[in-house]
Amino acid sequence: MAAAAYELLVLGGGSGGLAGARRAAEMGVRVALVEPRRLGGTCVSWGCALCEQVMWNTAMHAEFIHDHPDYGFEIPGVRFNWRTIKEKRDAYVRRLNEIYENNVTKARIDIIRGYGKFTSDPEPTIEVNGKKYTAPHILIATGGRPSVPPDSEVPGASLGITSDGFFDLEELPRHSVVVGAGYIAVEIAGILSTLGSKSSLLIRRDKVLRTFDSLISTNCTQELENIGVDVWKHTKVQAVTKSPSGLLEVKVTSSEPGHKPTVKVIQDVDCLLWAIGREPNTEELCLEHVGVKVDAQNHVVVDEFQNTTRKGIYAIGDVCGKTLLTPVAIAAGRKLALRLFGNQQYARLDYSNIPTVVFSHPPIGTVGLTEDEAIAVHGKDNVKIYSTSFTPMYHAVTQRKVKCVMKLVCAGKEEKVVGLHMQGLGCDEMLQGFAVAIKMGATKADFDNTVAIHPTSAEELVTMR
Ligand SMILES: Cc1cc2nc3c(=O)[nH]c(=O)nc-3n(C[C@H](O)[C@H](O)[C@H](O)COP(=O)(O)OP(=O)(O)OC[C@H]3O[C@@H](n4cnc5c(N)ncnc54)[C@H](O)[C@@H]3O)c2cc1C
Repeated sequence: MAAAAYELLVLGGGSGGLAGARRAAEMGVRVALVEPRRLGGTCVSWGCALCEQVMWNTAMHAEFIHDHPDYGFEIPGVRFNWRTIKEKRDAYVRRLNEIYENNVTKARIDIIRGYGKFTSDPEPTIEVNGKKYTAPHILIATGGRPSVPPDSEVPGASLGITSDGFFDLEELPRHSVVVGAGYIAVEIAGILSTLGSKSSLLIRRDKVLRTFDSLISTNCTQELENIGVDVWKHTKVQAVTKSPSGLLEVKVTSSEPGHKPTVKVIQDVDCLLWAIGREPNTEELCLEHVGVKVDAQNHVVVDEFQNTTRKGIYAIGDVCGKTLLTPVAIAAGRKLALRLFGNQQYARLDYSNIPTVVFSHPPIGTVGLTEDEAIAVHGKDNVKIYSTSFTPMYHAVTQRKVKCVMKLVCAGKEEKVVGLHMQGLGCDEMLQGFAVAIKMGATKADFDNTVAIHPTSAEELVTMR
């Protein structure tokens, strides 16, 4: 017999699960949250809060230190201590975990510790540590985990770590190899290289961030090389071995189009990091017991209202495989709670025009359609592109020159801005306000009618011709 009468059971105490649970609890709903680990999920413990806000800021300091002499500062003997920032970062994460725990307790949400899975009972039921729980509404928000190729496919692959392991590193690796071309690979390779680790990035094609606008993928690949990352293009890992010294040897095949494949061994690697994608945490949920359908990649299939294929069971966030971002999981969780318990029967998250930042060096900001997507939707003749490339004022006096690139993708006679893509100093903070304008349907004329703020990089976005 299932225990405790809840109205909502939430599987997973990450960004999405916590947001949905708390919004429902605010409306007086009796909620239980199932979570085996620390509250906060990937973002807080193994993702954004750490990777971007602390490690990226650390790497930004390293970059600015290069420019200090150009600005007249002479600071000899600057040394970097990885352990100092790791300890501070870990303490910050523990504080965040505690804050989440307190907030959940204050909201009178019951926390059930353990992994939940569906049983074969006739009514949807969750079992945690042998105890059964049921509710008319069950939310799956179990997120995902980093993928690693099996050793049967790439012998020795398990000698590498993932983004989770990156945060456990006790020292800055001397020689790191990052595998992958997505934003996590780009961010981690950038951080390691900027902080002084000899870094190689292995990518299967010729560019990173291939789903981004071509301006961004081309420029970002170049900027990685500019900061010293050795980008191995058209390269795949064949095998990994550990040498008697304890360091890794990474055997790779590079197959440039039109050339014979070459096999090389990258030696003396003390950190091999797989950033080749993420897979959803669905396999252990026994979804087959409740008829919840998953797609070919095991993501939970949902409709636009986050309904799964079983009535009363919903899914949000990374487990659905669509736009894997913290604010997306949070917004979907809150909207769902409003729809189920807040008399807002049509509440749902609009997945269009979601702004995204990549914490590369320099950072990337992007929202809306890429040029190729806009052409596919509106036709080539109906798409107009405005782009610019310049050196930001910050670099006027520095020897280090990092350019800023920007592109506006406009569609139709009225030149509605349907995409904005940029990489350069400050683009991370620049994006949010422009995303509001684009979400509201701003046209190129609206951009032009906005008086520029001088001297900033952002002014280029309202002065492009
Ligand atoms: C390195 C890295 C950097 C990132 N940077 C950014 C960024 O800059 N900006 C951004 O917006 N996003 C970023 N993300 C993505 C972001 O972290 C995720 O999109 C977000 O955490 C998804 O939230 P979620 O609630 O779907 O899943 P999660 O936050 O992963 O939460 C899922 C929870 O479910 C729990 N769980 C798993 N199985 C079960 C089970 N059977 N029963 C109960 N609980 C279970 C897990 O322990 C976990 O706590 C980053 C991710 C990574 C890995």
